[in-house]
Amino acid sequence: MSYNKTSMEKLFNSAQKLGITLNQEQLDKFHIFFQELIEWNKRFNLTHITEYEEVISKHFLDSLSIIAAGQLKDTDRVIDVGTGGGFPGLPLLIAYPHFKLVLLEATAKKVIFLKHITQVLGLSVQEIITDRAETVAHQPEYREQFDIVLSRAVAELPAAVELTLPFCKIGGVFIASKKGDITQEVSLSLKGIDILGGKLREIKPVTLKELPDQRQLVIIDKIKSTPVQYPRRPGMPEKKPIK
Ligand code: SAH
Repeated sequence: MSYNKTSMEKLFNSAQKLGITLNQEQLDKFHIFFQELIEWNKRFNLTHITEYEEVISKHFLDSLSIIAAGQLKDTDRVIDVGTGGGFPGLPLLIAYPHFKLVLLEATAKKVIFLKHITQVLGLSVQEIITDRAETVAHQPEYREQFDIVLSRAVAELPAAVELTLPFCKIGGVFIASKKGDITQEVSLSLKGIDILGGKLREIKPVTLKELPDQRQLVIIDKIKSTPVQYPRRPGMPEKKPIK
């Protein structure tokens, strides 16, 4: 396969720093993922990042950087809430093919891409759901069923916790990948975290020089059950975050 060797080496080396050794087959998958993303993006508006190096760093490496939380295990049941074009869930699944991964995305068009790309890459996702988190989180087969809940660039933290913590089983974690100064966002979410049954464990900086911005992982433990009234009806978490 012919592709930009330098970028792939960069991906390989950076993943290595995160403790993942990608083999050739996995690197090929990332390359095909890139090509398909760009092709489908012409019609589907999946990402505004289309330059090769940038896709590698801002989508692939940034997704893989969640590994730095030191939390993911091969056997974990994981849900990616608002996965869009598959981030961070799919890069993690390429790295850890045994994850039991559920992708949740409200926009049907994006789900068409997700079904296509998982098939092309031969990735076995447990399920791809087209719906809103506010609805799915009330269904018993998903509510408090996951070891790890992920969500990137879906909502600010005060709203994101309501869309994610209901999916976390007690003893599970929600890991949010954030960039820039998040002090205020975090402090505004503390009340919601508490009400929803979570507890802020730590904010862990990701120190990977290949990532362009200051990144950090907000790690929230689920310590008690989420009250039945959460999440509130679709749109409410963002319109009126718990404060
Ligand atoms: N996580 C991806 C996409 C971010 S864009 C990434 O980091 O690249 C946010 C995505 O979340 C959009 O695709 C949008 O359709 C989806 N989304 C927003 N609110 C949602 C909700 N309440 N339930 C499910 N998906 C949602």
